[in-house]
Amino acid sequence: MSDTHTVINPATAEPVTDVHLASAAEADAAIEAAHLAFRAWRDVAPGERAALLRRFAAVVDDHVEELAELEVRNAGHTWGNARWEAGNVRDCLNYYAGAPERMFGRQIPVAGGVDLTFYEPLGVVGIIVPWNFPMPIAGWGFAPALAAGNTVVLKPAELTPLTAIRLGELALEAGLPDHVLTVVPGKGSVVGERFVTHPLVRKVCFTGSTEVGKRIMAGCADQVKRVTLELGGKSANIVFADADIAAAAASAPSAVFDNAGQDCCARSRILVERSAYDEFVSLLEPVVTGMRVLDPADESSEMGPLISAGQQRTVQSYLDDVEIAFAGTAPHGDGFWVPPTVVATEDPSSRIWREEVFGPVVAVMPFDDEAHAVELANDTEYGLSGSIFTRDLGRGLRVARAVEAGNLSVNSHSSVRYWTPFGGYKQSGLGRELGPDAPLAFTEEKNVFIAH
Ligand code: NAP
Ligand code: MG
Repeated sequence: MSDTHTVINPATAEPVTDVHLASAAEADAAIEAAHLAFRAWRDVAPGERAALLRRFAAVVDDHVEELAELEVRNAGHTWGNARWEAGNVRDCLNYYAGAPERMFGRQIPVAGGVDLTFYEPLGVVGIIVPWNFPMPIAGWGFAPALAAGNTVVLKPAELTPLTAIRLGELALEAGLPDHVLTVVPGKGSVVGERFVTHPLVRKVCFTGSTEVGKRIMAGCADQVKRVTLELGGKSANIVFADADIAAAAASAPSAVFDNAGQDCCARSRILVERSAYDEFVSLLEPVVTGMRVLDPADESSEMGPLISAGQQRTVQSYLDDVEIAFAGTAPHGDGFWVPPTVVATEDPSSRIWREEVFGPVVAVMPFDDEAHAVELANDTEYGLSGSIFTRDLGRGLRVARAVEAGNLSVNSHSSVRYWTPFGGYKQSGLGRELGPDAPLAFTEEKNVFIAH
C-alpha cells in the first residue's frame, strides 16, 4: 500500500503536491544501500571528496531561486529568508569542503614507538530534520557528515519535504555517487524510528521537539548509538537601562517573529530593566504593529503564516489564556495565520513565560537588577540562545557568561553562523553542530601504537 502526504501551502491552505511516504522496508533499503556506498565513499581521496562537495555547492548555487521558491510555497517562508536558507546550504558545503584535507590526527610522544591518532568516519549517519528550517538544518547535518567520510540518510519533516528532495537530486547532478546522500521522505514514527533502531545507522542527528528528542536519545541508548540533539528553547533578550533602548526595541521583534516565531533560537522572553520598561514597550509597539504580515508570495512580506493548522491551534491556545498587550495584523483569508503578539507578564510561573510557544508570541517582563535578570533568564529547563543589550561591555560579557545557554549575543541577535559552534545547554540539546569541529562529531578517534 502506497502512503502519501499532501503538501499544503500554509499561506493559502491550498494543496501543492503529493509526496510518497517511505515505508519501514523502504527506509531499511535506503540504509542498507547507504551502508554499501560507505566503503567506496570513505576511500575517495580527500581532495576528490572536497571537490565533489564544492561541485555540490556550485549546483546548489545555480538553483537558489528554485529552492527558495519551493520553500516559500511549502513552508510559508519569506523570500528573503528562503534565499538566505538556500544560500546557507551552499555556504555550509563550501566551508566543510575544506575539511576532508584537514582531518588531522595527532602524533603523541610515547616510549618504544610511535603513537598516532586517526579520525575515522562512523558509517551511515541518519539526519532527522524538522519543518521550521528544512534547508539549513539538513545542510548543517549532511555537509560535515559527508566531509568526514560518512554516507547520509536524511528524513525531512513530513510537512516540508520538497527542498530536501530537490537537494538529494542536486547532489547526484553534482556527481556525488549514488546512495552517498539519500533523502527518505516519511513519517517520524516510521522512517525516523528506523534511523534509531536500525543497527547500520551509527549516529542520529535530531533537531525538533525536546519531547521527541528524549525518546530518540533513549532509543539510541539500546545500541550505544551516537546522537546529537538540537531541541527547543525559550531564550531571553535582556535589555539593561543603559542600553540604546531604541535599537533594542527596533530589533526585538525580528529576533522573535522571524519565521513567524518558529525558531528554536527565538528570543521569546524579553526582560527589561524596570527603569527603562515603559520607554522600551512604547518603542516596541509601533515596530510590532507596523510589521508587514502577508502571504510570502508577496516579496515585501516580513512575516508569513505558521506551518500548519495544528501549529496555529497550539499557538492560539496560549493566547486564549493571557491578556494581550498589543498585536500586529495578519491576513484574514485561508492559511494558518497568527499576528505578531506581545504579552506583558510579571509571573515567571505562567505558561506563556515557561513554555516554548513556537509561534509569533513574545512575553515581556521587568527586572530589578543584573542578578535578578540572570536569575530570571536561567529559570528554565532550556538553554539555547540569548541576547544582552547594554552599553557596559564588562556587564555584557559578565551576563553572557552567566546565562546558561549555548549561543549568546551582545547588542545584537546574531543568527546562527555555520563557522561557529551551535548547540544547547540543559534540555535544549546535546552536542554541538557547525563550527570548525563539526566534522569530528561524525568520527571515531582511533589510536594506533607502532613499536620501534
Ligand atoms: P517533532 O515531532 O519533534 O518533529 C521533528 C522531526 O522528528 C520530524 O522530522 C518528525 O517527523 C520527526 N519525528 C517525530 N517523531 C519521531 C520519532 N518517534 N522517531 C523519530 N523521528 C521522529 O516536532 P513537531 O511535532 O513537528 O513540532 C512540535 C514542537 O516541537 C513545536 O511546536 C516546537 O515547540 C518544537 N520544535 C522545535 C524545533 C527546533 O528547531 N528546536 C523544530 C521543530 C519543532 P514527522 O514530522 O514527519 O513526523
Ligand atoms: Mg511531532
